[in-house]
Amino acid sequence: MTGLLFGTGGVPRSAKLKSTVSGIERLSELGLGCLELEFVRGVKMSEATAYEVAAAAARSGIRLSAHAPYFINLNAREPEKIRASQERLLKTARIASLCGAKSVIFHAAFYLGDPPQETYHTVRKYLAEILDQLRKEDNQVWLRPEVTGKPSQFGAIAEILDLCSELDGLAPCIDFAHWHARTGRSNSYPEFTSVLTQIKERLGRAALDNMHIHLSGIRYGNKGEISHLNLKDSDLDYAQLLRALKGCDAKGLVICESPNLEEDSQLLKTTYEGLA
Ligand SMILES: [Zn+2]
Repeated sequence: MTGLLFGTGGVPRSAKLKSTVSGIERLSELGLGCLELEFVRGVKMSEATAYEVAAAAARSGIRLSAHAPYFINLNAREPEKIRASQERLLKTARIASLCGAKSVIFHAAFYLGDPPQETYHTVRKYLAEILDQLRKEDNQVWLRPEVTGKPSQFGAIAEILDLCSELDGLAPCIDFAHWHARTGRSNSYPEFTSVLTQIKERLGRAALDNMHIHLSGIRYGNKGEISHLNLKDSDLDYAQLLRALKGCDAKGLVICESPNLEEDSQLLKTTYEGLA
């Protein structure tokens, strides 16, 4: 794959129908390259639909990823909540694989007041079990823990990169808007480049060739992320970010999660293509 592909988190708003297949067709008409299937409120897609989605994506050359349900906490207090979280991730990975999606994105955990180091070990243990199970099923999707937007959520960049360097089958989802909201910083060319350099140093050049990025405008306060915004209503310096991505020759998918979805996705694509 060369360069970056741009697309939307969920069916674009201008799709004829609110279905995934219709969304894929619309993205193709718009000249965009990828779609993230949103299973954030649960996996309800049937296997039959998954095969239709896979066929539509293959026909139009749209690359797919899937976002697992929000109700996942691998650091939950109750064992049954851990098991339910593991099941939700497995279920997402199974349907994603039938759809031909290559990656499953998820928010791993909340600290719930635990020291981050302790949370890290708990998350790693339960993730390793999920990855074992997927290997047994010969499921090839990448599980991608996401960089999260609030300091109460597990998912600082270092935590995500540590996990990915320790567990096979794991790769990062770098949400630059989340990281900006979480830190109140990381919104300049040198800071973006420093994140990309860390990825390369911890995971190797291959990680920059296989990136999964979330992007949107974002509103934030001292507890981090508040809500997603359209890029032009936010302070995120997406042009400098795209310049940093191009400078490192990053390749992969950029999923736009702004409220206006395909509009910002096209803005990102044109800005990226306009870079010298
Ligand atoms: Zn997410």
